[in-house]
Amino acid sequence: QDYLNRLRQIEPQIRSFLHVSENAIKEAEAIDRKIERNEELGPLAGVVVGVKDNICTLDMPSTGGSRILEDYQPAYDATAVKKLRDSGAIIVGKTNLDEFGMGSTTENSAFQVTANPWDTSRVPGGSSGGSAAAVSARQCVVSLGSDTGGSVRQPASFCGVVGLKPTYGRVSRFGLMAYASSLDVIGCFGTSVADTGILLHTISGHDRFDATSSKREVPDFWSQVISMKHVESKPLKGLRVGVISETLGDGVDMGVRSLIQAAASHLEELGSTVTEVSLPSFSLGLPAYYILASSEASSNLSRYDGVRYGKQIAAEELTSLYGDSRANGFGPEVKMRILMGTFALSAGYYDAYYKRAQQVRTLVQKSFKAALDANDILISPAAPSAAYKIGEKKNDPLAMYAGDITTVNVNLAGLPALVLPCGFVEGGSAGLPVGLQMIGGSFDEGRLLKVGHIFE
Ligand code: GLN
Repeated sequence: QDYLNRLRQIEPQIRSFLHVSENAIKEAEAIDRKIERNEELGPLAGVVVGVKDNICTLDMPSTGGSRILEDYQPAYDATAVKKLRDSGAIIVGKTNLDEFGMGSTTENSAFQVTANPWDTSRVPGGSSGGSAAAVSARQCVVSLGSDTGGSVRQPASFCGVVGLKPTYGRVSRFGLMAYASSLDVIGCFGTSVADTGILLHTISGHDRFDATSSKREVPDFWSQVISMKHVESKPLKGLRVGVISETLGDGVDMGVRSLIQAAASHLEELGSTVTEVSLPSFSLGLPAYYILASSEASSNLSRYDGVRYGKQIAAEELTSLYGDSRANGFGPEVKMRILMGTFALSAGYYDAYYKRAQQVRTLVQKSFKAALDANDILISPAAPSAAYKIGEKKNDPLAMYAGDITTVNVNLAGLPALVLPCGFVEGGSAGLPVGLQMIGGSFDEGRLLKVGHIFE
């Protein structure tokens, strides 16, 4: 009840939720009854969780932030949601996002723009801006987002919370609306590294409904983190940290750069060795990402035809039914991505765009491999700047895309990355938070969480 009260009280200023659960109190009461009867409780019993609205929920609409799914009510829970419910968590509502995850501010939501709790004239980041803002404003304890090119990490940075993008395949994508299937992952937000690790542990693991989910064993991240003793003066002794030099040059705000350098010195004080490492293909990652993500989106979004799901615009001809439903249902950014993707995949252009972008992807993977052979983790800013004003980049898509330079390479390589607050730059009335990104080797989330926990 406390969380619902707070959620409702703050919602008019922040606008992070698209739906609020009508069952939350009933679910909490059921937990109370279990406690009275001394029955066993799940590990997350009563924990209030927000879920990004591109993740399917049985008891609430799931719009993906799009008009085309305005009335859509899934017939099933996403596997990550089911796992949360099985462990006793209460899904309190569905959070706002850029339409189908396409954007970096939540301004591309068909329904509302979410505000940054640190300064409500600024964006919370995106596309999981609602999930990040909801945790930052304490409308829920933890939340789920999705990260195709940075959509968990950049909003975590803008809203001053912890965000985790797991290794591709660590968490089932069953019930996550596909944007770019080879890049999409469900990720976690929390106010501490420990909470974020517990959430990851709950939702991870193989799922027979997602053939790309990994069969690897899921370590108990939480016990690993909690078992650590902080008695040693150099708890990170032996850890090799590489600072990605391409992320500390032009295009990254001075204030952000100096906070990342300060974070690197702090890691050194904790016992690690810090060196600079270069990823030569780094800048190629951005155009490659936008070609690949748009190409996959153009294919994935063909399922929204006005027949199978959501909104239908009646027409005499079947082709006009498809055309009118899509023309009315999709917003401008989604239409632009479908056009770009269809172009990149079309005969005659495929070799010049899609194929080259796939080759760049291989280069990016190789350069990360080399950097992570020489280092245990890599660090960089999560985003080139702190949160900017609502409307500032809305009409300049290239400027907005450029802000993804620090995150998209990680998705191309499928690696895990943890973002945690590392200080403030000037702005707003209280300063604006900045996030440090730590990138690890495949399935090495446990190490990221340990280092993150010691760092925070
Ligand atoms: N901003 C990026 C995009 O618009 C990333 C989005 C995401 O990770 N879902 O594609």
